[in-house]
Amino acid sequence: MVRFDGVGLRYDAPGGRSAWGLLGLSFALAPGEFAWLLGPSGAGKSTLLRLMQLSLRATEGRVELLGEDVSRLRRHALPALRRRIGVVFQDDRLLPHLSARENVALPLRIQGVTEARVAADVEEMLRWVGLDHRGEDPPDILSGGERQRLAIARAIVARPALLVADEPTANLDEAQARRVIALLRELHRMGTTVVVATHSETLPAAYPARALLLESGRLVADEAAGA
Ligand code: ADP
Repeated sequence: MVRFDGVGLRYDAPGGRSAWGLLGLSFALAPGEFAWLLGPSGAGKSTLLRLMQLSLRATEGRVELLGEDVSRLRRHALPALRRRIGVVFQDDRLLPHLSARENVALPLRIQGVTEARVAADVEEMLRWVGLDHRGEDPPDILSGGERQRLAIARAIVARPALLVADEPTANLDEAQARRVIALLRELHRMGTTVVVATHSETLPAAYPARALLLESGRLVADEAAGA
């Protein structure tokens, strides 16, 4: 499902210098697995997730996503693969001028899905994240937790095989954070592969799962659930 072999990512730094964001990273995730991505700020979590969502390409090593060797993929093949990967960010990145319902519909509209199916799928998603009563509301009158649940609905409405979430609970209080993580765990139970970066210690303790620990761009621990 996801396989990294000796992956490195070098960022260009000012003055023609460069710095490693990630170095020598090797691990694999099985289909349907849930993994925490842990490590202090600056460890490389966002960089790793950006490789998994194809917004960055490795400068070294081999990245395989959903059975495709990304380094060999031609540029024109990237959008189709990207559509099979859902992304949730720390800030919700919802469009303020669209209603909650229209925000969730957007990925389906871009794919040219029929309006009847858009309507049915969007309602099902809004119900699943507990926002079926907020469909007409613009995002800015929702609470932080509601907005993040809406962002999850938008990320998964097109039924991605892989969902990556970068600090999705960073701006939420604990009750809201738990609700967001409970949704991501349920998504995993339904068969989606889920990777969640967090610097929280309480959430991984409350929801034990595989944990990849990054420090200074390197994978320093890879622990099975409950280890
Ligand atoms: P985390 O998500 O764990 O906080 P990041 O992946 O954001 O870590 O950053 C890892 C390292 O890469 C840091 O040293 C950071 O300064 C560096 N870095 C991240 N993005 C860039 C960039 N666009 N250009 C140069 N360096 C970057």
